[in-house]
Amino acid sequence: MSAKTSQISSRDEVPAEYKWDLSSLYKNDDAWEKDLKRYMQRTPEIDRFKGTLGESAEKLADCLAFMNQMNQLQERLGYYAHLKLSEDVSDSRNHDRFSRFMQAATAAEARASYQTPEIQAIPDDRIEQFLATPALEEFEIALRKILRYKPHVLSEAEERLLALQQEPNQTAQKSFGALTDADMEFGEVETPDGPQPLTHASFGSFMEHPDRDVRARAYEQFFSEFTAHKNTLANLYSGSVQLDIYQARVRNFDSARAARLFPDDVPESVYDNLVETVSSGLEQLHRYYDLRRRALGIERLELYDTKVPLVPELTVKHTYEEAVEVVVEALAPLGEEYCRVLHEGLLGGWVDRYENKGKRSGAFSAGSYDGWPYILMNFREDLLRDVFTLAHEGGHSMHSWYSTRNNPFQHYDYTIFEAEVASTFNEQLLAKHLMERSEDPRMQAYLVNKQIDDLVGTLFRQTMFAEYEATTHSSVEAGRPLTVDSLRSEYRRLLEKYFGPDVNLHELADIEGLRIPHFYRAFYVYKYATGISAAVSLARQVIHGNSVERDRYLEFLKSGGSRFPIESLRLAGVEMTESTPVEVAIEKFSSLIDRLETLLKELRQL
Ligand SMILES: [Zn+2]
Repeated sequence: MSAKTSQISSRDEVPAEYKWDLSSLYKNDDAWEKDLKRYMQRTPEIDRFKGTLGESAEKLADCLAFMNQMNQLQERLGYYAHLKLSEDVSDSRNHDRFSRFMQAATAAEARASYQTPEIQAIPDDRIEQFLATPALEEFEIALRKILRYKPHVLSEAEERLLALQQEPNQTAQKSFGALTDADMEFGEVETPDGPQPLTHASFGSFMEHPDRDVRARAYEQFFSEFTAHKNTLANLYSGSVQLDIYQARVRNFDSARAARLFPDDVPESVYDNLVETVSSGLEQLHRYYDLRRRALGIERLELYDTKVPLVPELTVKHTYEEAVEVVVEALAPLGEEYCRVLHEGLLGGWVDRYENKGKRSGAFSAGSYDGWPYILMNFREDLLRDVFTLAHEGGHSMHSWYSTRNNPFQHYDYTIFEAEVASTFNEQLLAKHLMERSEDPRMQAYLVNKQIDDLVGTLFRQTMFAEYEATTHSSVEAGRPLTVDSLRSEYRRLLEKYFGPDVNLHELADIEGLRIPHFYRAFYVYKYATGISAAVSLARQVIHGNSVERDRYLEFLKSGGSRFPIESLRLAGVEMTESTPVEVAIEKFSSLIDRLETLLKELRQL
């Protein structure tokens, strides 16, 4: 079976060997139903620990051990329900199963809501005594993670008021979604093949359209619609920023950013460092845009010329099985165990390989403590980038594989900050492997260009977003309100800075700042930029190093959620509090541009 045929199969028609085998979670739906029943029956037992947590270390340990069992069961139930829903969202049984799970989980969580405040209310010296006993040894990391929030927890009455605000607090984000996803209409774009609908999804494809006039029309039409709603959008964003600041202030944080970096224990200097280091390397980005301009033969580059591929996707075919072989060969520097396990998993039951009717689009990895680290793909043989996706998702899955085997349930799960390192690391190794295997300059140019675009999209662009978020928040914190004009001029300043003197900025260019959904989840996107920097540095160390570097990297995968990200990455061999990892990524970017220039000359595209 392959997706090259235009006929897309229904779920029932997909042969079993192409589907994931969910039996590591549950043998069948009935087994899941039985476990859900068990989970719901046990839920009322959560109450029996109420009021006892400060009595003794043993009582506290009893409660934590019970909750651990409940949470592990909940995770298993949830993953099965989630994966079944993802394989076919058109099947109402899958929706029904998932919503029954959600109800049960929410009920249990509500019942357990007394626990964190009760633990935090135990006096410091008493909890330290508790922690010194063997009874709590296995829960120390989990408890310390709860206790560090103590200075930011309020009185019971205040906490109640905050909890009651949860629903209304979502208004800005929800309204942004409703406005941009449902109410806005972008119409159709005239193309040489007739009019085509313009949507959020098709906008990306239009920006890659070979016809410059089509790109220009799509760009103007898209941003005109945002411009028509600029006052609403600016107010929604401003409300979201004010909410971030309010929440930080009531919880005694110095700033909104400090509050958002607190859960990962990332110092604000890491963030500032990222922005500063990237800022001082922007000359390289400007050099890239100039190369782009010359390769496209355009006098002045517009923003709608910055995504069109310089080298078209190659029509090299990889069957799924061939893709697995290539990925595993590329990851050889990670050693025998990593490669063997991944190879078996990818060809065994980990992966749901191809598209079918009702299946979620895109790709993801879903690793839980009890089951295999499953991967959803929509693999296409004719897309080389799908081989990269497989390497990426395989990186997440192996991270899960190592962390579940080396940690107890209570702290096996790693943060997003760390997750994207394990996945992009694999893409680095794959790019290098494919470069070495190929003699074809077109293939080489494609691979170099892909790596460049990845760095532009994750390192440079996300840092620009991070800088924008830092400015909007600190501006309000300093008493300067956000308006349509102030938001646009700040965004324009950043576009000028990041795109450089050779890119022309359209009059609508600064409206873009009002359309980024990520901004409604503040101080999050910087993790993409730090993630790829760490991955570039670590891949370089492992490729040029020996077993010492490799074992350090594997130790990082094994550490799971037992350490905070900066610390676990330090053990892997990369120091995120210094500018070196970001500098290494920029150096790599610079050498890729040189390489692309040479290759484009060879291909007579320059
Ligand atoms: Zn990922």
